[in-house]
Amino acid sequence: MTARVLVVDDIPANVKLLEAKLTAEYFDVSTAFNGREALEAATTEKPDIILLDVMMPEMDGFEVCRRLKSMPETQHVPVIMVTALDQPADRVTGLEAGADDFLTKPVDDIALMARVRSLVRLKLMTDELRMRETTSNQLGLMDEAEALHRADAAMGRILVVEDRETSARRIAESLREQNRVTIESDAREALVRVSGEDYDLVVVSLSLERSDGLRFCSHLRSEERTRNTPILAIVENGDTTRLVRALDMGVNDYLMRPVDRNELTARVRTQLKRKRYQDVLRQNLQLSLEMAITDPLTNLYNRRYMESHLSTLVQRAADRGKAISLLIVDIDFFKAVNDTHGHDVGDDVLREFGERLARNVRGIDLACRYGGEEFVVVMPDTDVAFANTVAERLRKGIADESFNVGGGVGALDITASIGVTSLQSPTESVDQFLKRADQALYRAKREGRNRVVSEAA
Ligand code: GH3
Ligand code: MG
Ligand code: MG
Repeated sequence: MTARVLVVDDIPANVKLLEAKLTAEYFDVSTAFNGREALEAATTEKPDIILLDVMMPEMDGFEVCRRLKSMPETQHVPVIMVTALDQPADRVTGLEAGADDFLTKPVDDIALMARVRSLVRLKLMTDELRMRETTSNQLGLMDEAEALHRADAAMGRILVVEDRETSARRIAESLREQNRVTIESDAREALVRVSGEDYDLVVVSLSLERSDGLRFCSHLRSEERTRNTPILAIVENGDTTRLVRALDMGVNDYLMRPVDRNELTARVRTQLKRKRYQDVLRQNLQLSLEMAITDPLTNLYNRRYMESHLSTLVQRAADRGKAISLLIVDIDFFKAVNDTHGHDVGDDVLREFGERLARNVRGIDLACRYGGEEFVVVMPDTDVAFANTVAERLRKGIADESFNVGGGVGALDITASIGVTSLQSPTESVDQFLKRADQALYRAKREGRNRVVSEAA
């Protein structure tokens, strides 16, 4: 993995040292020597991660971090504060300024690389989601500010995996005020829990006495359900070996023992916020995928989806020697509805028509709006006789009960004509199949409308 790293320090020798280490690992390094330069480079160079010195004249690292995290174009870039200070209070100040992690000087190479790699990986994933989010915005979905706002909500569901009773109790007490906390002392039991319930965060000790915390983390990362659940690891002071393995595995953040209460709550808050933000992005992505295949007026599938899915369904029917049938439904004299009552009333009719259509077909049938006032229903495992029955039921369901529309019109009588056909042979093309249904529809129109005509092969 390669990525762009911005190194910020007011002492040139420090910059040189980090630059050399990172370049040796094939990272792309840019540098800045004070806060102002750092802010500028962060916008122009678009780094994937920033290593930021705390003690700098004029503007210190905390202030730079606060500014980076308040600008939309840089707020997602992870920041590691590099500091000679190693007091929990400084770390809390940094976390509150939005820092993602800390490294103490002199910087330990292994910890540095593991940390950079893990934060870059997380950033790349968020970048991907954000890129899709931009597309969703263009489609008129929730905007990013709204997503961030929602990300701030309260009450996280947290699972604490720890078998030292006093430690577990202390962690739970620190978090309970703002979250729903569950304690589990055995990693195997914890796996059962996460497979049955959704957690927003898992806090896990990497030095469990009776089970394997690292193995537990790797299970979480390999299971579909928990792949994106944030993990906060608790590490023995100085246990870099386990820490590095955990970070490489995809653990999101860690704390060294003895656990400082304020640092714990600050790190938990960061993880929960990030998780909620990503949940919203994912939800929006799901929504935009649905929108891409749905007709917004009727909520039925759109033509594009129908056409691609129809080939799959036809292929499958042909392979298995099963029947498959198709209805094309067209509203009669629909133009007159628009001409007489206006386009909005026409839309009301289409909406209601879509609902009746959806009510009259089975779950396995594929109902879609094919265009204007024309609809298609694909019915797998259905022969032409049964398709006829369905079509007739649908026709009656439309003709027998008038449509309720707005615009002061009230009730409106609507009828539709339906063409029915089924797949002729395993080698028939989708085009031929559709065309025959269309011919049946044409006959239904010609023979007087408000009727079902089936076109045998
Ligand atoms: P026929 O019985 O032969 O099918 O006659 P028709 O009037 O239903 O058919 P025609 O194809 O002449 O007219 C279809 C009309 O549907 C024309 C078009 O303006 C209207 N239409 C297409 N899409 C929409 C829509 O989304 N909303 C509204 N209100 N009207 C639409
Ligand atoms: Mg029509
Ligand atoms: Mg038409």
